[in-house]
Amino acid sequence: MGKHSVVLIPGDGVGPEVTAAAQKVIEAAGVEIEWRIFEVGAEDWGPHGAPPLEAAMEEIRRCGVALKGPITTLPNSGLRSVTVMLRQNLGLYANLRPIKSMPGVPSRYQDVDLVIVRENTEGLYSGIERRVNADTAEAIRRITREASRRIARFAFEYARRQRRQAVTTAHKANILQLSDGLFLQCAREVAADYPEIEHRERIIDALCMDLVLDPQRHDVLLCPNLYGDILSDLAAGLIGGLGLAPAANIGEGLAIFEAVHGSAPDIAGQGIANPTAVILAGAMMLAHLGEEAAARKIEEGVRELYVRGEHLTPDVGGQASTEEMTEAILAMSV
Ligand code: ATP
Repeated sequence: MGKHSVVLIPGDGVGPEVTAAAQKVIEAAGVEIEWRIFEVGAEDWGPHGAPPLEAAMEEIRRCGVALKGPITTLPNSGLRSVTVMLRQNLGLYANLRPIKSMPGVPSRYQDVDLVIVRENTEGLYSGIERRVNADTAEAIRRITREASRRIARFAFEYARRQRRQAVTTAHKANILQLSDGLFLQCAREVAADYPEIEHRERIIDALCMDLVLDPQRHDVLLCPNLYGDILSDLAAGLIGGLGLAPAANIGEGLAIFEAVHGSAPDIAGQGIANPTAVILAGAMMLAHLGEEAAARKIEEGVRELYVRGEHLTPDVGGQASTEEMTEAILAMSV
């Protein structure tokens, strides 16, 4: 296959450390990539103002694919999240987050293998907020038929392609009767076109309890935006932490691959961030680019390293640095 052009956004905090690791592993797998690097993190604001977000988006439209590190948004900063802007402006409506147990990782559960499909453009992330007066603020949780049907279709198509057994729709339609009611109704309508896939419906709070009690029972989880965000961290916790969970943001002909985790300011600059999540996101990106063999090689290399239990970062019970772990993955996946 020819050379691919990919936009690389290193991001903030641990972002540059873990995206550099992913770059190395992808290149060592024999895939030729021309990296188009855009520094658009919160730490990239210079004396002349905002980082070149428009230019980065233009380039993502041109290349079709990006690999991205986490970008910080400070609460009460008055600024919108760059990550959310990228998702919304590029129409990346589906956020796909596979959560799979890694052999050898200290965790209460083994054999978890579920996938979160999160609606990525609306819900409480619509950005429609207003201050009513000094003591009251409101946010609008926008749910539309179009976006709800589109994400439901994505989830069921994914389940069919991957031969998954069930899709569970997470909702709170007993309380949010109009908004979650519409989301649930759309999921039911779409589910009717997939008779071979079981459609389960679960109220979000009960689903959280189910996940903690018996995570192996779950398959594909279809969620409105904020529920998907929260469930993703919960689910990452089931398999040993945020260092392990990759994500893909997918739209029409465009996709951004990233880790579920944020910029992890508490460990940034120490060289101990776990690069697994971004490396696995890189493997998802390669599969998306049609480089399945290289993607498989990387995934198998990562799993092999965990099986051996050596050269792991502290979050998964080891003492290795990001660089040592990356080198070990490289050695396993060539
Ligand atoms: P955001 O709101 O941007 O998603 P967050 O509040 O979820 O961020 P994170 O930055 O993801 O927070 O960090 C949460 C915890 O997980 C921190 O203790 C952090 O050190 C840990 N963590 C996140 N990513 C990694 C990683 N790659 N390796 C090791 N630990 C990590």
